[in-house]
Amino acid sequence: MTPQRLRLLIQSAFCLFCLWAGVRFYQFILWTGGKAEAFTPRPPSVEGFLPISAFMALKQFLLTGLWDRVHPAGLTLLLVAMGTALALRKGFCATICPVGFIHNLLERAGRTLGTVHAPGPKLGKALSVPKYLVLGFFIWTTWVQMDARAINQFLSSTYNLTADARMLDFFLAPSTISITVLVVLGLLAMVVPSFWCRALCPYGALLGLASLFSPLAVHRKQDQCIDCGKCNRACPTGINVMSKQRVGTPECIGCMQCVGACPVQGCLEPRMAGRWRISPLLVLTGAAVLLLIAWAWAAATGHWDNGIPAIMQKRIYMMMG
Ligand code: SF4
Ligand code: SF4
Repeated sequence: MTPQRLRLLIQSAFCLFCLWAGVRFYQFILWTGGKAEAFTPRPPSVEGFLPISAFMALKQFLLTGLWDRVHPAGLTLLLVAMGTALALRKGFCATICPVGFIHNLLERAGRTLGTVHAPGPKLGKALSVPKYLVLGFFIWTTWVQMDARAINQFLSSTYNLTADARMLDFFLAPSTISITVLVVLGLLAMVVPSFWCRALCPYGALLGLASLFSPLAVHRKQDQCIDCGKCNRACPTGINVMSKQRVGTPECIGCMQCVGACPVQGCLEPRMAGRWRISPLLVLTGAAVLLLIAWAWAAATGHWDNGIPAIMQKRIYMMMG
């Protein structure tokens, strides 16, 4: 199987899982509002869509050693994503994130329609900057300006308790502004591949910084390269792969598309610590395997489900309307 196919397969599987979790959560919310008779348990995995809450929970954990009790799965998922970045570059972005998957599909649609115009090196570099500014803003407002007490107050507030329901509301009843922004981002992704990921996503920026410490990188054998440029054209984040011997930039998501596109066997290959060659298929499955291991650990040790009785959650959601 080619890296392109395997990536698409894993991305599709996680996207379907997210849809399934979304439907289950919707049914749970209907039950809390008295609009459904049958009780559906709340899937903790929806907390993966609450990165700011998870980011604050991480600070609380580092300061106090306490694991967030309100959205424990959110913190687990953030730590898995960071752990994956440390081990396998931004494998979370490459294979698990549903936003990355949608961008992958939009890029394919853009290539079919002929709308893709990859930006040049200077514009490409400029485009990668805003997400670090957004990340800096979040770090400043949460990690720097909020002390442990303020973080704890936020995490235990009814606002944070019902953040998952607000997030669902955003998807089910988006405002005109939200729809406009989403359409513009979608159209941009058909021109500039992975526009949101490479330009604006603070989560990707954080994982990119973590990936700088990763021993894994794509290496190019200069003496075998025929300068065909296929790797550059395949790269969704616009990295000039054919000019590098080692792709160590935080923009690399470890998607292995360049490796799959290279026509010269063994010219491009992922290696650990620059020495040990790893199969690109193994790299692509790595993030999913780490995620499943972390989920099994978290579920077995009480770091996944918040344990709040459903009837109490129902009261909280009703209280918040
Ligand atoms: S350099 Fe290769 S592995 Fe890295 S993002 Fe580009 S295509 Fe993916
Ligand atoms: S695809 Fe392979 S052969 Fe072609 S430029 Fe890139 S590294 Fe060289």
